[in-house]
Amino acid sequence: MENTILKGKKILIVEDDLPSRLYLNKILEKTGAILINAGDGGEAVIMAEKNPDIALILLDIQLPGLNGYAAATKIKKSGHKGKIVAQTAYSLADDLEKIRSSDFDDYIIKPIYPDQLIEKISTIIAKANLVI
Ligand SMILES: [Mg+2]
Repeated sequence: MENTILKGKKILIVEDDLPSRLYLNKILEKTGAILINAGDGGEAVIMAEKNPDIALILLDIQLPGLNGYAAATKIKKSGHKGKIVAQTAYSLADDLEKIRSSDFDDYIIKPIYPDQLIEKISTIIAKANLVI
């Protein structure tokens, strides 16, 4: 369903696993968001540089080459204003602590459910827009 908060917002989906990437695109394309994709951390950094208007980056932690933590740090250091949400299969307290103390703005734990994902990212984008 189209979402008044997400409609027209640019979202970067970063996921190396193709079926997972297609799944996330399928969920989010219905909202009216503008979706762009990257398959690894290095590509995510380049896409973020080229697209300063990205509102939110849905960033996988486990990626080939540059992992999610390193990619988030590089993107934030570049001055990008988009919110970065980690997507992780990890749910152990230590891993969540690491995510909280990193450059991520928030996180979502896999498996990702459509309603939960849309609710989470629309809340983050709505809050970010209030600040601006
Ligand atoms: Mg992965």
